[in-house]
Amino acid sequence: MESCHICGNDAIGTGYVEGAKIALCERCAEHSKRFQLFEQYRPQQPKPAQRKEKPEQELVAGFGRKIMKARVETKSLSREDFAKQMLISEPDLRAYEEERRKPLPDVAKKIEYALGITLVESKIAEEVEQQQAKSVPFKKEFTLGDIIKIKKK
Ligand SMILES: [Zn+2]
Repeated sequence: MESCHICGNDAIGTGYVEGAKIALCERCAEHSKRFQLFEQYRPQQPKPAQRKEKPEQELVAGFGRKIMKARVETKSLSREDFAKQMLISEPDLRAYEEERRKPLPDVAKKIEYALGITLVESKIAEEVEQQQAKSVPFKKEFTLGDIIKIKKK
C-alpha cells in the first residue's frame, strides 16, 4: 500500500502538487490537481473484449536522466540512499540512470511515485482516454453561462 506523500496516511491515488505527481490520501487529494484514484479504487467498468491483452508499457525517452535529475534536484538523495529506499542495488540504479538497462515495470512505478516523475507510458491507456474524450461532447455541453463563470475565476 502506498502512503500519502504529504501526511503518511494510506494513499488512494495520485495527484499533482506543485507540479509533481505524488501519492495522496483522501484528505490531501483535495489540495492536488488532476487527482486520479489508483486502479483498484476505480469503479469497475466492463472492458471491451478486444482489450484483453496486457497494456503495452513503454519507458519514456530519457528515463535515466529523468530519474537522476529528480533524485538529485528534487530529493537531494545520493544514489546509494535512493537505491536503498527503492530496495534495489546501487549498480542497478546506476544502470537505469545511465540507461544501460530498463527497470522492471514495478520498480519503474516505485521510482515514479518516489520522485514524482513519469517513466512509463501505457499505449493502450492513452487510446482508451482518447476514445472516451471523443465520446463526450465536451464543447457542446458548455453553455455561455459556464464560459462566463470560468472567465470570472
Ligand atoms: Zn495525506
